[in-house]
Amino acid sequence: MATLFTKIINREIPATIVYETDNVLAFKDINPAAPVHILIVPKKEIPTVNDITPEDKEIIGDMYLAIGKIAKDLGIDQEGYRVITNCNEYGGQEVFHLHFHLLGGKKLGPLIS
Ligand code: AMP
Repeated sequence: MATLFTKIINREIPATIVYETDNVLAFKDINPAAPVHILIVPKKEIPTVNDITPEDKEIIGDMYLAIGKIAKDLGIDQEGYRVITNCNEYGGQEVFHLHFHLLGGKKLGPLIS
């Protein structure tokens, strides 16, 4: 079933898109947890980290390349930032379409809560 993020990829619902390639889309999180909060998603529907296969290696690589590019474009690459992926219930995943949270723009607190 198409997730919310597939609808954003297909422009069926709006989002503030900051980066796009053949494999990847990145857009602002609707409920930001930091001054910079970008979601990086593969255009391929991969529900969770558990579902990544060897044939997805290029896509996952493109997602990390996107993170570096976006961080540089937003001017947070040198001060630093955090990248998080939630998986399933204990990880707190809400949208079952793989995504990386890029968080920055301030000094972040401890990771685990
Ligand atoms: P996760 O808990 O890792 O699955 O994160 C899902 C993220 O999607 C949350 O940080 C939400 O704020 C974000 N989100 C939900 N709906 C939208 C939307 N329409 N546009 C942008 N971000 C969204």
